[in-house]
Amino acid sequence: MTTSHWLHDRATPATEPLRGDVDADVVIVGGGFTGLWTALQLTEREPAMRIVVLEAEVVGHGASGRNGGFVEASLTHGIANGAAHFPDELDELERLGEQNFRGLVDDVRREGIECHLEQVGTLDVATRSWQIDDLAESAALHRRHGHDVELLGAGDVREELDSPTFLAGLHHRDGGAIVHPGRLVEGLARVAAGRGVVLHEGSRVTSLVADGAGVRASTDLGSVAADRAVLATNAYSHQVVRRTARHYVPVHDYVLLTEPLTSEQMSRIGWKRRQGCSDSGNQFHYFRLTHDDRILWGGYDAVYAFGNGVGPRYDHRRATYDLLARHFRSTFPQLADVPFDRWWGGPIATTTRFTVAFGDALGGRVLYALGYTGLGVAATRFAGRVLTDRMLDPTSPLLALRFTSTAPFPFPPEPLRSLGVQLTRRAIARADRNDGRRGPWLRALDAVGIGFDS
Ligand SMILES: Cc1cc2nc3c(=O)[nH]c(=O)nc-3n(C[C@H](O)[C@H](O)[C@H](O)COP(=O)(O)OP(=O)(O)OC[C@H]3O[C@@H](n4cnc5c(N)ncnc54)[C@H](O)[C@@H]3O)c2cc1C
Repeated sequence: MTTSHWLHDRATPATEPLRGDVDADVVIVGGGFTGLWTALQLTEREPAMRIVVLEAEVVGHGASGRNGGFVEASLTHGIANGAAHFPDELDELERLGEQNFRGLVDDVRREGIECHLEQVGTLDVATRSWQIDDLAESAALHRRHGHDVELLGAGDVREELDSPTFLAGLHHRDGGAIVHPGRLVEGLARVAAGRGVVLHEGSRVTSLVADGAGVRASTDLGSVAADRAVLATNAYSHQVVRRTARHYVPVHDYVLLTEPLTSEQMSRIGWKRRQGCSDSGNQFHYFRLTHDDRILWGGYDAVYAFGNGVGPRYDHRRATYDLLARHFRSTFPQLADVPFDRWWGGPIATTTRFTVAFGDALGGRVLYALGYTGLGVAATRFAGRVLTDRMLDPTSPLLALRFTSTAPFPFPPEPLRSLGVQLTRRAIARADRNDGRRGPWLRALDAVGIGFDS
């Protein structure tokens, strides 16, 4: 099956498309994590606020319903990246990330969202000898910031999860969970509806324009006039507000999902603690168990299409599925008899510093947050808090952080954008082949603090 596993068993019925012209205080464009967390945080602070969410397809149609379901506390796409881009704010960002992670877990429990949340931590594995030193460095950095990590040698890591390719591991015991993201996004929509938020699916916004002192979001069948709009369309944002394209490139990321493993098949690999895992190349795989013991195996390729291409024609890629399957078979030869029965892909919006970009348009009538790179499940909740502060508490200290108040270095327009992405992809692949040694192109990008990632 080629639709996301996470979206195929939705329990709540679809909502009706917007018909006619209505008024609201805030209109939110996009029914993924950013849009829904923002709606929830607005209603927590102002329960009477009239909020309408317009979703082009169905809730979770974008990355929120297709991701790996790793919930990580880091707001900065990992500590190392945070240290590179926000050294002066890193301690505060780490604290905010932990607080946000705990808040997410609390929200899920308090609201009774059944999304298979498992606080199992994460496990990074080295599959090449040069990655072993990187894991040791990463362990030291995590410990300096108070994290509970353990370095594992080959024997110990294979005790956790057995693969002949694993040479070492770094077990992060705190700040990481796995979740069924489809259930989470659906649960957030249910909670929002319970608080009076009006959600219209099948309602693609075709224009977002100033309307007096406010803003009007129009679809084919109606419109919402509101004081403010939140653009929560992540990798699709340039289709609604063109100039957001400078902040990000959409890179397509793909996953495979096995059939449920039997207990005998599970016993061949171990994985008793069920950590979310990833290997440690510049091009990396991520892998995890689902509630019913399927293995989700994704990542590695990050495919860009000229002109920020997004949409159904990019949601599948045979060549990447074949490559991922080969990599899975060599990682877990003992699971040669386990077939894949689902595969899908989706767009990740990455910025040049791999962290969310906040901004506004139409003279501040439209606010947006986008570009979480591959770690948006938890970071979107933090973004909802920032967007809420921008609307309701403009003197909030959160808004003074460089992290929230400055834009990442912009990507150039086409054709330079495409050229830059292709050069970088090739340089990354070359670095992985050369024991991690970064060539002149990557070193030049590192020196000015830019890149792209998945
Ligand atoms: C394959 C994959 C794996 C990933 N794995 C992880 C992971 O394991 N952990 C992690 O933390 N992050 C992961 N991510 C990233 C994470 O999923 C995203 O950062 C996050 O879901 C972004 O949420 P969002 O609401 O901003 O965007 P989206 O979920 O993309 O939501 C945007 C919504 O806007 C809608 N929309 C678009 N245009 C319009 C319009 N004109 N009008 C109305 N609606 C519109 C779309 O249909 C969509 O539903 C992954 C992403 C992908 C693609």
